[in-house]
Amino acid sequence: MVSADDAAGERRRISVLGATGSIGESTLDVLRAHGGREAFDVVALTAKGAYDKLADAAIEFGAELAVCADEAAYRDLRDRLSGTSVRVAAGAEAVCDAAAEATDWTMVAIAGAASLRPSFAAARASRVVALANKETMVCAGAAFVRELRQSGGQLLPVDSEHNAIFQVFDQHQNEAVERLILTASGGPFRRLSLEEMARVTPAQALQHPNWSMGGKITIDSATMFNKALEFIEAAYLFPVSADQIEVVVHPQSIVHSMVGYVDGSVLAQMGVPDMRTPIAYALGWPRRVAAPVERLDFSKVRRLEFEKPDEARFPALRLAREALAAGGSSPCALNASNEVAVDAFVGGRIGFLDIAWVVEATLEQVAARTLGSLSDSLEVDAEARRVAERHIAVKECA
Ligand code: NAD
Ligand code: MG
Repeated sequence: MVSADDAAGERRRISVLGATGSIGESTLDVLRAHGGREAFDVVALTAKGAYDKLADAAIEFGAELAVCADEAAYRDLRDRLSGTSVRVAAGAEAVCDAAAEATDWTMVAIAGAASLRPSFAAARASRVVALANKETMVCAGAAFVRELRQSGGQLLPVDSEHNAIFQVFDQHQNEAVERLILTASGGPFRRLSLEEMARVTPAQALQHPNWSMGGKITIDSATMFNKALEFIEAAYLFPVSADQIEVVVHPQSIVHSMVGYVDGSVLAQMGVPDMRTPIAYALGWPRRVAAPVERLDFSKVRRLEFEKPDEARFPALRLAREALAAGGSSPCALNASNEVAVDAFVGGRIGFLDIAWVVEATLEQVAARTLGSLSDSLEVDAEARRVAERHIAVKECA
């Protein structure tokens, strides 16, 4: 068996940003399966406010640094780690500083646009950036890729669809690639009518049929905004145009995505829906290393189904295509307004179908402009949030 450590041929310095979340925990699990602190030098682990979990992980992995974004959690984190050699810090700036520590491999698994600045810091400081966070590419894809090119860092997509495409995309023959086919589970409301969807509660939207994930991405799977973000992410990650990207609903979540070639061949990557596979792929790359996941048993799967997404009930994909066509800042505005709308839905302020309405209304109001740098993206993000908030307030009063 090839261990992740053998794959690198040396002891690697590793950071995990967003270490307490769903991807963060899966990443720690993969590191554990490959020897944990005996095999890797863990530099920084970060979280928002889950200081207990963060402290436990920092102790287990012998991290040099544990950082929480939430300053109110600083004292608790410091107290939990007193007497250990782990350095402690707190605040959004401290998370960026942690991301700026030089590493061989950094997992970026902070949820949402909050990841933008730490992602860029990691791009400057890490030899390999394993990117689970999709908002970085959606909001600032061109600038992020430029940053990596300047630093010489290698970007490895971890989002399961993009990781699947990365695995089967023949990088030596870009011109032979005809299309990318992103698979979508369709979420828990695939069969509901619009009337039924209008009554969906946050608790129902937080139940995903196949994947166990953080709250925000689970709601995004139910609205299909997750696929909308992934559509944009794919357009920035791979050398194809938007009209070469298709989305197909595949309720079993076994085929994680596909690449179609000019000779009619379609190459797929398959596996059980468990993020530890793409994480292990990113950890071992360019070799394959073992992942502690269940193996695919085709006699149990029995059926693989595929169907066209229904854009009348799930307008998110149309909005993603329109945002990409408008270009520049529109994908960033789409993401920001969706984040605000999801928060409002979870807080009981708007209904499930209002999420797409808020995004569309925001996109109509925030003029598309060229994005030159990360700070341009941060400005658009803030503006789109303000506009989305106004639309939410209108819905609340209605
Ligand atoms: P999660 O909510 O479970 O975890 C998010 C992590 O980020 C936590 O450690 C949290 O403490 C930290 N965090 C949240 N807000 C922060 C802030 N403002 N500053 C600093 N840290 C903050 O989310 P997740 O499901 O693990 O997803 C993480 C990212 O990976 C998202 O961008 C998501 O779209 C992407 N992703 C997740 C999955 C999955 O299966 N969970 C799959 C593909 C892609
Ligand atoms: Mg995905």
